[in-house]
Amino acid sequence: MSSLINRWTGKPYSQRYYEILEKRKTLPVWHQKDEFFQALKKSQSLILVGETGSGKTTQIPQFVLEAVDRESSDKSRKMIACTQPRRVAAMSVSRRVAEEMDVTIGEEVGYSIRFEDCSSARTVYLTDDVLFGLLKEVLKNRPDLKLVVMSATLEAEKFQGYFFGAPLMKVPGRLHPVEIFYTEEPERDYLEAAIRTVVQIHMYETPGDILVFLTGEEEIEDACRKINKEISNLGDQVGPVKVVPLYSTLPPAMQQKIFDAAPPPTTEGGPAGRKIVVSTNIAETSLTIDGIVYVIDPGFSKQKVYNPRVRVESLLVSPISKASAHQRSGRAGRTQPGKCFRLYTEKSFHNDLVPQTYPEILRSNLANTVLTLKKLGIDDLVHFDFMDPPAPETLMRALEVLNYLGALDDDGNLTKLGEIMSEFPLDPQMSKMLVVSPEFNCSNEILSISAMLSVPNCFVRPREAQKAADEAKARFGHIDGDHLTLLNVYHAYKQNNEDPSWCYENFVNQRALKSADNVRQQLVRIMARFNLKLCSTDFKSRDYYINIRKAMLAGYFMQVAHLERTGHYLTVKDNQVVHLHPSNCLDHKPEWVIYNEYVLTSRNFIRTVTDIRGEWLVDIAPHYYDLANFPQCEAKRVLEKLYRKREDKEDNKNRK
Ligand code: ADP
Repeated sequence: MSSLINRWTGKPYSQRYYEILEKRKTLPVWHQKDEFFQALKKSQSLILVGETGSGKTTQIPQFVLEAVDRESSDKSRKMIACTQPRRVAAMSVSRRVAEEMDVTIGEEVGYSIRFEDCSSARTVYLTDDVLFGLLKEVLKNRPDLKLVVMSATLEAEKFQGYFFGAPLMKVPGRLHPVEIFYTEEPERDYLEAAIRTVVQIHMYETPGDILVFLTGEEEIEDACRKINKEISNLGDQVGPVKVVPLYSTLPPAMQQKIFDAAPPPTTEGGPAGRKIVVSTNIAETSLTIDGIVYVIDPGFSKQKVYNPRVRVESLLVSPISKASAHQRSGRAGRTQPGKCFRLYTEKSFHNDLVPQTYPEILRSNLANTVLTLKKLGIDDLVHFDFMDPPAPETLMRALEVLNYLGALDDDGNLTKLGEIMSEFPLDPQMSKMLVVSPEFNCSNEILSISAMLSVPNCFVRPREAQKAADEAKARFGHIDGDHLTLLNVYHAYKQNNEDPSWCYENFVNQRALKSADNVRQQLVRIMARFNLKLCSTDFKSRDYYINIRKAMLAGYFMQVAHLERTGHYLTVKDNQVVHLHPSNCLDHKPEWVIYNEYVLTSRNFIRTVTDIRGEWLVDIAPHYYDLANFPQCEAKRVLEKLYRKREDKEDNKNRK
């Protein structure tokens, strides 16, 4: 019975395969399978629009595979690539598809995201970028390449216009009606309001799972704790709950829990159990969870914003758009009629929410993207066919940053250094710091610092043990800066043989350290490819930390702040008033600091800061600290003195 053999593995299909297959066959896209095959055959590009949950992400790639399998004699060389804007979704969806196909993840089906490659040369899920523009170019030269653009939104016409009027295929959703409720008055504390609403739904509404949208890890963990506590206080008059968090840094095994079923009633015939998913806007479009009947939408999400004038990219909790609110409420009607509780007034919905969320490319620092495009040989960025063209100022800023870093020459061409930098999956500043670190005899340490900066915060501060946690952190503290503190943590973790109980006792997040180690190994491999030396200054030498700080400055010389006589810091050249983030480990207020991050909250903070010396600025980055091109400020006058001192020194040397 050859039909029962999985042609990808050569083994018989498992029981699980058949179980899932039955479910798959009920998804809306399955009813239009033949129509899809016809459309795919006829044209090079195809736009497919379908409500979330219709099966676009998980089924269509498999349909394409089936089509390719049928048509092509030369199977070994075909590959189906799917892009996913979110890392979590890329991992989760590829696992699901591997399971549906009854194959091992990483073989026929894999994924590749920043810092993690779980793919073979056969099928890959990727996270996208300015991919559309590139694809459009490639399509012209590759008639054999097929493109299917899938979207849940109404932006289909925009895609159609962009991709030469490609045919449109619509998959009707299975959406049930969703009743929308608004609050009478604006809520002062949306977190508290969200928790209260969860408890009320659980007490008074009919069975069905709840999805709550919040903005970030900390808030979500906090909410989960509070929901559990409040519901357990209600005793057995209510059913049991399973509260599951969902955010991007959650480990995959935990993410999978959102697909678990709600708990059964504690006693037979007792009140029904409920699953309560508390998620960032990942659950808005990227992941579909069945069984959700109630959605709670406080109206906020963390969004990237970029201000090219001061070169600041930050994540800000901001009001969502009407389109987002619509997507969110739709999540309640997947399996039966549902309810959506918007924790804002109806008036606010109409008057305050913008119609659409701005495309991410318009809200990002483009330096990385520009470097990638340059590497791919796209020289004329001004005329590059972006689907959503970024503001000229943002593009200019990106080119300028890359020029200052030496990745592009004055004509905008990629330099040798830029070529190497573009191979690192990092921001250009960090790549630059890594590439030059051997010159400062500290590439080992810079690798560790880069890895630590690339993973979530490694310090744990549980509510019930804040003092102990702060003391533990202080033991790692380096008085010259947070970057060096991170290095201390990494070293201590390695010296203690990566021991989980050591991490626990020292309030260090083991998961973060483990992924830092993983990132570090990948960066080491890239360094090796370019023969960049791995080296360290002798730990006993007084230059050990100085060299590290200088190497950091060689990458981050555009992220420097100066302490003014008035007692606050001003960012260099942009003259923004900033404050040292309270999490810093410094025991003094240095005259000059480099910072890793600019955080906009109630005040402007710079986070992860390290003390550097003014002399190093004029030595290491004179092209950026060129005073002819500098706004009048205190920092300029200090720099003038430093330049004069340097000239005097040179003169003296020459005279001798
Ligand atoms: P769309 O892309 O149209 O939003 P998907 O292909 O993502 O739809 O989802 C189709 C169905 O597969 C949904 O019912 C969803 O709940 C289910 N599904 C997706 N991933 C998983 C998973 N990891 N585990 C269980 N079910 C899943």
